[in-house]
Formats: sequence, C-alpha cells, structure tokens
Amino acid sequence: MINLQQMDGNITCLSFESRETSVNLITEPFLSHLETLIEEIIRNKDTQGIIFTSGKKDFLLGADLNLFLDDKDPVEIYQLSRRLQKIFRELETWGKPVVSALSGSALGAGMELALACHYRVAINHRSIVFGFPEVKIGLMPGGGGSQRLMRLIGIEKALPLLMKGSKLDPVRAKELGLVDSLVETKNELLEKAVAFIQQNPNRKQFWEDQEKWQDPLCPLRPAGQKYFMEMAVKVQKDYLGHGVGPQKILSCLYEGSLLGLESACQIEAQSFSELFKLESSQKMIQTLFFGVSRCRSIGQKKIQEHPPIHSVGIIGAGLMGRGIAHTAASTGHKVHLLDKDISTAEMGRNLISKELDKLILASDLSTDGKSHTMEQIKATDDWEELSKCDIIIEAIDENVEHKREVYKKLEEVLTKDKVIITNTSSLPLEVLNKEMENPDRLVGLHFFAPVLDSPLVEIVKAKVSSQKSLVSALKLANTLQKVPIVVRDGYGFFTTRVMVCYISEAILCLNEGIPAALIENAGIALGLPIGPLALADNMSLSTIDSLLREKLKVTRRELEPGSDEHLVLGVLEKFLHRHLRLGVRSKKGFYDYEEEGHHLSELTKSYEKEKDRENPVSLEDIKNRLMNIQLVETMKCFEEGVLNTAHEGDVASILGWGFPPETGGIVSNCHKLGNEKLLEELNKMSIRWGERFSAPKILKTLINKNFNSLHEAREILANALLEDS
Ligand code: NAD
Repeated sequence: MINLQQMDGNITCLSFESRETSVNLITEPFLSHLETLIEEIIRNKDTQGIIFTSGKKDFLLGADLNLFLDDKDPVEIYQLSRRLQKIFRELETWGKPVVSALSGSALGAGMELALACHYRVAINHRSIVFGFPEVKIGLMPGGGGSQRLMRLIGIEKALPLLMKGSKLDPVRAKELGLVDSLVETKNELLEKAVAFIQQNPNRKQFWEDQEKWQDPLCPLRPAGQKYFMEMAVKVQKDYLGHGVGPQKILSCLYEGSLLGLESACQIEAQSFSELFKLESSQKMIQTLFFGVSRCRSIGQKKIQEHPPIHSVGIIGAGLMGRGIAHTAASTGHKVHLLDKDISTAEMGRNLISKELDKLILASDLSTDGKSHTMEQIKATDDWEELSKCDIIIEAIDENVEHKREVYKKLEEVLTKDKVIITNTSSLPLEVLNKEMENPDRLVGLHFFAPVLDSPLVEIVKAKVSSQKSLVSALKLANTLQKVPIVVRDGYGFFTTRVMVCYISEAILCLNEGIPAALIENAGIALGLPIGPLALADNMSLSTIDSLLREKLKVTRRELEPGSDEHLVLGVLEKFLHRHLRLGVRSKKGFYDYEEEGHHLSELTKSYEKEKDRENPVSLEDIKNRLMNIQLVETMKCFEEGVLNTAHEGDVASILGWGFPPETGGIVSNCHKLGNEKLLEELNKMSIRWGERFSAPKILKTLINKNFNSLHEAREILANALLEDS
C-alpha cells in the first residue's frame, strides 16, 4: 500500500497506492506501515531525503473515519491523533529534507502530512484540490494541521480556510502559500522534488525557532486580542447550527499561537478527541460523511458503464442556466448556452464572466482558472447546435406551456437517444412531458441556487422516465461533482415541497398578526441560514404560489374559503398581483432590497397586529410551528414514496435548504424527542393551530411496530411505496 523506491543520491521515494480503498486513505494498516517505514528510513544514516508521492489519482484524501469509530473512547482518539502527529513531527525534525510531490488532491490528514514536509510541489491541474474539510462533518484537523497552517500562512488566512473547510485549486494554494511550486507533469514533479533535496541537505522548519515566529495577530498583541474577540462573536453568529468545530478551531489557534508546535499539537489532539465524541459531530458524521457517501454511491456501476459526458447544452441563460453552465464548464465540460436570441445568450455568458471576476476578487479563483472556464462556454441561439451535445438541460422560466414548447423544438433537432433534463423546481414531470413524442427521455435534475456552491441535486424520476434517462442524470450529477438524491415525481418533489410548507407556516403566522421580525428570528433561532420570509423572496413568491395551486390540482381539491391554502394564497396574491412584489428578483418581496442591504417592507410590517394578551404567542410557539410543519411534511413524503431512504432525507435537508447540520438532518430530527412524544406534541398542535399538524400515519406505524426511527424502518418504507404505486 506504500511503495518504497530508492532513487539516485540516496533519496527514498514513498508512493501511496492503497489496495484496500478506492482512494488513498489513512487506515490502521496504512498507519502502521507508515510508522515502520519512517522509522527504518530515518534510522538509515545514508538516506539524504524523502519524497512522498502517489501512484493513484489522488495524493492522500485524509484518514478513514472508521479508524476513529468502533466505540473508541476519547482517550483512544487522543492517542490516535498523537500517533499521527508523532510521525509528522519525526519527519519535520529529522534534519534532512522531506518533500511532498503532490500528484493529486491532498485533503485533511493528507494535507497535514504535506504541511509537515519542508517543501511542497504540486501538479497544476484543475481537478486537484487542497484543504481541510473536516469542519464540514463537525471535526477539525487532528494531525497538527491547524497549527502548521497557521504558522505557514498566518492566522488571518488560516482561520477562514479551516472554519469554512475550503478546497483550493493548485494556483490558489500556491498564492496562499500552502504549496511552494507548481509543475505541469509528473516527471517535472519528481525532478523538482529531487532538486530541492539536493539543494537543501539540512533542512528544518522555521517554526522550530519559536523566537522568530510570532503572528501579527498573536493574542499577546492588542491587534490579536481585538481580532480574536471579534472572531468569537462572528463564529457564534455565522456558524449557528454547524456544531462546535468552528469554535474549537478558533480556540486552538488562540492557544496554539502562544505555544511551541509540540505543545500546540497536544492541544489540537485534545480538541479533536473532544469534538469526535460530541453528539452533534456524530450526527454530522453520520449524515454528511456516511449519508453523503451512500447518496454518491447510487447507481455507481451503471454510472461507470455510461459513456462520458463531454458536452452539455443548456437552454435558458437566466439565473439557473448560468449557474449550471458555470459549474459544468469549471468541471471540464464544453457548454452551449442557448437563449431566445443571441444577445440574451451573450449577456448570460458575460454575467458568468462577472461572477468569475468576483471569485478572483475573493481569492477563490485564479485568472488562469477564469480563462479556462470561459473558453468552455459558447453562447448561441442556434437550436441545431444542441444536437452536438451529449445531454441537454432545460432551465427556462417555471411555466408549463413554455417548457412544453421547448421540448417540442428539442425533439425536432435531437436524435432519439439524447436525454433531456429539466431543472424545474416544482412542476410535476408527468404534466411537463404530456405532449412529448418520447416522454421517457425526460428526467428532472433539480439544482439549487447558487448552483456552483450548492452541492445537492434532486433527481426526479417520472413514471415513464426510462432507466437510461435516470442513469444519464446520475452520470451528469456525478461529473458535476454534486450529491444526488433520487425522488419520485410530484408537486415540489421533496425539497421544494417541505420548504414551501415552512414558508406557508410563516405566512400564516404573518397573517395572524405576529410581527415579521419575530417570525424571521424564530427561523434563525432554529439554526436555519435565513428566515422563512427571506427564503420565500429568494425562491420567488410566484414559484410558491404556483406550487400551492399545483398541489390543489394534484390532490384534487378546490380552494376552500378560510382554509390554510386560501389564507396563504390570499397573502401571496396581495404581494404578487396587487403590489408586484415577486421577491429578490424584482427587488421587492416581503423585504425591500436596496444597494445598502435589505429590510422588511412596510407592506409586510402592516400585517402586525396588537398583541393578543389573552392568547399570547411566544417565540417558542413560532419555532415549534416552523419546525414541526417541516417534520410532518417530511414524514408525508415517505408515506407517499416521494422519499425512499432516511439518509437521503437527512442529506437533502442539510445540503438543500440549510437545515442545521448538527441535528443530523430533518429525518433524524423527527425522532429527536422520541416518536411517542412527537405524536403527543403533534396532537396538541393540531388542536391549537390546525389540522395541518395532525400526525402522519407513518408515525403511528413506527410506534406500533416498535421502530425508533425511519432509518431502521426499511420494511415500512418499502410497504408505503407498494401501497402507493
Ligand atoms: P430565469 O427567469 O432567471 O431565466 C430563464 C431564462 O430562460 C431567461 O434568460 C429566458 O430568456 C430564457 N428563456 C425563456 N424561454 C426560452 C425559450 N423558449 N428558449 C430559450 N430561452 C428561453 O429563471 P431561473 O430562475 O433561472 O429558473 C429556471 C428554472 O430553474 C425554472 O424552472 C425554475 O423553477 C428552476 N429553479 C430555479 C431556482 C431559483 O432559485 N431561481 C432554483 C431551482 C430551480
């Protein structure tokens, strides 16, 4: 698994080539092997230097999480972390040069190893990334990475990288100082590594001399005191619901910057082991590591057999079309971006260029990266050109008639084998595909805005969608590096449907006279990224309106005066039709959007009524309403077979609408209280707030059959699907 090769000049090259895992990961056998090898190499006085590289596509993608599981207690986790740190310390204090020749991506513990080396040379390829993503699953580096990164690039640059878990391309990693030099080929990589060893026979890290290293923001200095105080407030605010990782990282940098590296590493190991055992981290690991891996593994064999997707045709150069084009181009696809006329298509392409400029300004992209992405995108109004593309994505406005016309045109220019994908966020595919000659070729791939940063896609399979179309959608999600969930066709699928319920509950609260600011704060206090009314503005009020109407049609109900839907649609009608407030897009919705920021509109505030002293509504009441309505709708999605597995629901809620990650996701949250308690609470809520809170059948079934959660109840879910089909 680690190949050893002796090179000229007594240089030892260690190449990672894991046989037990598809990518290079630190497993127990890997760790033991590394320990033995390093000990032997260092003991050999003739060795002049060490080069680490990889025989696989990646360099080293971190530690296998299973290493830390198996009911290990915090002491064992601390010891594992120290074991890793000890190897890295031996390498950096050996006195002879050690180089990382990064032929592929280095993440987590892989990056930690690279930072413990005296020099890092990397291949400049856009598929390669470097960084510390641990925080995204509630953790932090545990091999000394946080302490070395801070010393290498400074507290101010290190902190955001660690707290956001950012991944950097090689050019950006070089600009920030994580990598020392870039080359184009593997031969050059090894040449450069050897040259460094030959030119630097005695090498030590500059931080070994603690006197010389003191960060300008070290807390001993007034500027550092101020910086850490401000960051402590920011972390509380920006990372609410994201576990304790960001706070731990901050305090580790604070304490570690006052100490030598050895003691700083001990503090890091302590924090890492404490984090690992927290309930919030465990839930994040279950959903965002194991759950996401399961989602990514859907249809893997079929995806591998599917021909590669090189080119994508996108219809509609609006918000979503541009986002999809940007994502597809930056993941190496040729893109034909089509709109009604060439000037609109060109305008869309120019707007992508402006987005890329913003990324450059925020130091998230290099200028080379921008040129490469822009070269991949061609603006067009020629439908014939789409016939050259491997797959087509329709992203025009949310209108059944307009979309049907587009499919008609597409069927005229495309050969029958080409799959058509729709990015509709709410319209049932069985309505959209009605007039198609070959409706089996239509499948849904619901992207989220902003497309580039949103990792989730919801793949929608209509009754008639062919297996081939489904596999093509999965293949596309895979090549765009998105996390897929597969859901059944219906109004709003899973994510939009739950989001609209949450928003509708907020609108009902508003209509009752509850102050909008209180409603918004209740959403944020639940750990959601924005309040429900702000979310409504982002989604657009017309999308919510059309989804609610679609729901009535699908469930074959009339709009009854005084019903919940009637009240919500009444508010929407006032905002949309009487005041032309569509949401963010028209710069007017529940909020007014101005250059300086946004604030609740006078129309929204006008709903506020005097407090009802006899029947006061507390923040807790609103929080319960906003949360439990999401839980009820999620359970209904299982009942109706829209969702098939609990982990997909958990993953989609966190990655789709920002459900607080530390809960483990919405399905896990359904069972937080215990099923009996939830049933009791829903019974009370349905009496106080309305029928919509009535417990779904599936909750009672879980209780009757003694299942603690939907995660355990595969049999019930399978039955629910059967009953429904
Ligand atoms: P948009 O209004 O920003 O863009 C639509 C684009 O399609 C416009 O540029 C328009 O000129 C073009 N267009 C319309 N008819 C066309 C035709 N016949 N031929 C060629 N081009 C045509 O819309 P959007 O927000 O990008 O939404 C697009 C789709 O994505 C919708 O189905 C929407 O529901 C879905 N969606 C939107 C969001 C969101 O947050 N906006 C999120 C997920 C999914």
